[in-house]
Amino acid sequence: MLNGKTALVTGSTSGIGLGIALSLARQGAHIVLNGFGDVEAPKAQVAALGVKVGYHGADMSKPAEIEAMMAYVNAEFGGCDILVNNAGIQHVAPVEDFPVERWDAIIAINLSSAFHTTRLALPGMKARGWGRVINLASVHGLVASAQKSAYVAAKHGLVGFTKAVALETATSQVTVNAICPGWVLTPLVQKQVDARAAADGVDDAEAKRRLLAEKQPSLQFTTPEQLGELAVFLCSDAAANVRGQAWSLDGGWTAQ
Ligand code: NAD
Repeated sequence: MLNGKTALVTGSTSGIGLGIALSLARQGAHIVLNGFGDVEAPKAQVAALGVKVGYHGADMSKPAEIEAMMAYVNAEFGGCDILVNNAGIQHVAPVEDFPVERWDAIIAINLSSAFHTTRLALPGMKARGWGRVINLASVHGLVASAQKSAYVAAKHGLVGFTKAVALETATSQVTVNAICPGWVLTPLVQKQVDARAAADGVDDAEAKRRLLAEKQPSLQFTTPEQLGELAVFLCSDAAANVRGQAWSLDGGWTAQ
């Protein structure tokens, strides 16, 4: 379905980003990975699906590095057809204790990076007459939780950004949407499970159960594979008129 297209997935060395990259690669898209940590294992996983795979290590908090990454995608892959803005970090603290540098980093990585990648990718998508922008927001783009002020502000901002750019591109063949997952068991959430286990004096399984029971009625984690399949749908012709949506995959979290 996506043969010949190129997908750039930010923050795709782990977790949800890697799940989405693998789903898009299974549909034939060439993949550009980005993110920190081990790069060779995710590259090999994508390459095993028979598509071309690239990597750029741009730090999503640094606009100049984002510009270099977009130039790399243009030079090596002839442009970015599918842009998945996924890189994100979390920090949990009450607002009066929130470290100023963590606030700035969360706004830069979870929100402003999507502005930079999108402004640089859109002209090429419009010129080639097809494009998909998929922003990994969160249930926290729609509702709030205590102690996550920066994350909630950034994700609400990302949903608003998604709507604005969807309107600007509404008559083009470029669609712009957000995906809003509930709890997904990735390294980002395992840190919160560990904190819960330590605070409540319970084991890992009980900490996971308590975390889910508080917010996610299905009591099941959403998986990177499910999010990957939703991204594939948003790339399909059937989704050509889905525009400016914040699509939840949250086990009922935001239905409450
Ligand atoms: P993760 O920690 O498993 O992966 C984050 C990825 O981003 C990694 O590849 C990491 O290297 C990369 N990254 C971090 N800082 C970066 C930077 N400055 N520049 C470039 N790359 C950077 O996290 P995840 O749970 O897979 O989260 C992915 C996205 O999904 C995030 O935007 C997150 O907010 C969102 N999300 C996660 C959940 C969840 O429950 N895990 C729920 C809703 C939304």
